[in-house]
Amino acid sequence: MTAPVAAWAAPSAKAPLVPHPITRREPGPRDVQIEILYCGVCHSDIHQVRDEWGDSIFPMVPGHEIVGKVTAVGADVSKFAVGDLAGVGCFVDSCHACDPCTRHLEQFCEKGAAFTYNGTEMDRKTPTFGGYSTQIVVAEKYTLKVPPGLDLAATAPLLCAGITTYSPLKRWKCAPGSRVGVVGLGGLGHMAVKLAASMGAEVTMLSTSRAKEADARRLGAHAFELTNEPQTLKKLAGRFDILIDTVSVEHDLNTYLGLLKTEGAMVCLGVPPKPASVAVMSLIYGNKKLAGSMIGGIAETQEMLDYCASKKITADVEMIPIRKINEAYERMLKSDVRYRFVIDIASLKGS
Ligand code: NAP
Ligand code: ZN
Repeated sequence: MTAPVAAWAAPSAKAPLVPHPITRREPGPRDVQIEILYCGVCHSDIHQVRDEWGDSIFPMVPGHEIVGKVTAVGADVSKFAVGDLAGVGCFVDSCHACDPCTRHLEQFCEKGAAFTYNGTEMDRKTPTFGGYSTQIVVAEKYTLKVPPGLDLAATAPLLCAGITTYSPLKRWKCAPGSRVGVVGLGGLGHMAVKLAASMGAEVTMLSTSRAKEADARRLGAHAFELTNEPQTLKKLAGRFDILIDTVSVEHDLNTYLGLLKTEGAMVCLGVPPKPASVAVMSLIYGNKKLAGSMIGGIAETQEMLDYCASKKITADVEMIPIRKINEAYERMLKSDVRYRFVIDIASLKGS
């Protein structure tokens, strides 16, 4: 058994996070052991800590935007050496053999991927614990190379917010001339703005927070519109090729479908706890598409990290010590995040 690893966990649904030491396995032949330096705070952490999706397992150590330094490698590891930078995203293993796994869509593994937290390893017994902890052991195949030269804390959010927005922008062919609308300026939304702008799109930020306009433009948005003003929706009718919806709470999808051009696509990324209702005429009229997208496979996540390094794109972060995590959740629930909280994992030592 290894020495206890400092971590913070939610002991039960809705309870605040508290120190909760865990153990990690010794690295096996194909494993990489990582000292975690930074971990981003995703709204999915809040949904799961509060059991809003109804599948939570406690105690829960959240965190799936992990960057750190390799401290040990197994005998058969070839991609990583001690001292290398490494990243871990939303899953840490899958079956390697099913159709989605062999098509680089491991997140949809038919046996169920081993999610980084609030799940189990592929043995379906050993619970997984996430990045609000000082150390993690992950199979080399599911560990990402963090390119040098990027600010490390600002790179952590790329492991979820980055890939979750990069993947649908690529799939729906965001390119110079595309008109992209991003709904919700939080962690995912601000990455969507940066990435879509970097791909040459004309980007409009669709927000409920007037105070975020200057930031939206600084991040790369060409226009900023308030969706809680009725005139906005009329003005923008039929405008967008792609809409990226990052809103975490219930909202009316039909309103946004009206903003798509003929044959445009709206991609849902946010996961409000309650089902949405869609008037099919908002899809039928204009041959529109309503799609979802979940993170990205390992190969695409590496492609995204390398793309971000080449374009010098990282997240805008507010660094917090772990003792501020419960407060950070409350601020995110009030849309008060600019634009991703990142935990300085050094603050866990001794907790
Ligand atoms: P976040 O940082 O909290 O941002 C959410 C944003 O939604 C807010 O900043 C706000 O932007 C907007 N919003 C909040 N309340 C709203 C309301 N009542 N009406 C309209 N807009 C509202 O959250 P996040 O980390 O980006 O995550 C967003 C969602 O994506 C969550 O549901 C999360 O679970 C999900 N997610 C999905 C995936 C995936 O693979 N599909 C991956 C990661 C996260 P404004 O102030 O600009 O309005
Ligand atoms: Zn996430």
